Amino acid sequence: METRLAIEWADAVWDPLAGCTRKSAACRHCYAEGLTAAASQSGQWGHGFAEIGPGGAAWTGKIALLEERLALPLGWESPRRIFVNALSDLFHESLPVETIDLVFAVMALAPRHIFQVLTKRPKVMQPYVADPATPGRIALAMEKIAPGGEATREIGAWPLLNVWLGVTAENQKEADRRIPLLLQTPSAVRWIAAEPLLEPLDLKLGSWLGNPNAGAARLDWVVAGGETGGEAQPCHPDWARSLRDQCAKGGAAFFWRQWGEHVPFAGVEAGSVDAPAKMSWERLGARPASRLLDGLLHEAFPPAGA
Ligand code: SF4
Repeated sequence: METRLAIEWADAVWDPLAGCTRKSAACRHCYAEGLTAAASQSGQWGHGFAEIGPGGAAWTGKIALLEERLALPLGWESPRRIFVNALSDLFHESLPVETIDLVFAVMALAPRHIFQVLTKRPKVMQPYVADPATPGRIALAMEKIAPGGEATREIGAWPLLNVWLGVTAENQKEADRRIPLLLQTPSAVRWIAAEPLLEPLDLKLGSWLGNPNAGAARLDWVVAGGETGGEAQPCHPDWARSLRDQCAKGGAAFFWRQWGEHVPFAGVEAGSVDAPAKMSWERLGARPASRLLDGLLHEAFPPAGA
């Protein structure tokens, strides 16, 4: 089953895992928890992973591979950008390394696709990807998934050229914690999701963005958007403008996804990050919300192997 989620920067969503636990402020209105709880009746895919209690949807703490979904991308013939695990976190602390290996094995077996992996747990991701033993384990996992195939003998390149690794950076505290770990992680493309964008972010021009030193790791792509959900806070346009402008100066692709629950009134004058303009928001809900920033769509992607 392919998950039906509207994610503007992906062509498809692949959820080989179910279950998660909350990690940071970005998890406050976790849609995955609600969607999983909504499918938690006996016999449904979400059974055992989340439940609906007196306080609403809640994770149970169980996280596991859904084996029937593991090989789905291998059957998708045309190349797609695939968001991996919209309903979980591939680098959750309680997942066995063998499970992560199986997910990477599928990504290695389908080089026609681009896999967009996003985590709030780069402390697990960094040592996993940097471990010299990881490519060999993944090759063994490829053999389990597609035994005897020519492509299953070894991994051509490591890190995989078709896997983009990213971290969530919803506020400066998490950006400061997670982005340095991401930059220490070997990856063909490094990206962040500043979504929900909860405050202005400094992406350290000259260091995280646009580092002039030859061979230095830097951010290739910034996706950002406002918060959705019942208690969502408005996202100030100046926070979005600042990310757009930092990306332009630092040579990173910028994708503005959506305003979230609250859309700023058109015609509001620009302020600055430190002294935002006085403004108002309309509460429209996520779907009808405009995706324009200062009248323009921002939908840039990085080159495939930036
Ligand atoms: S990491 Fe993602 S899936 Fe897990 S609780 Fe947070 S928002 Fe939800």
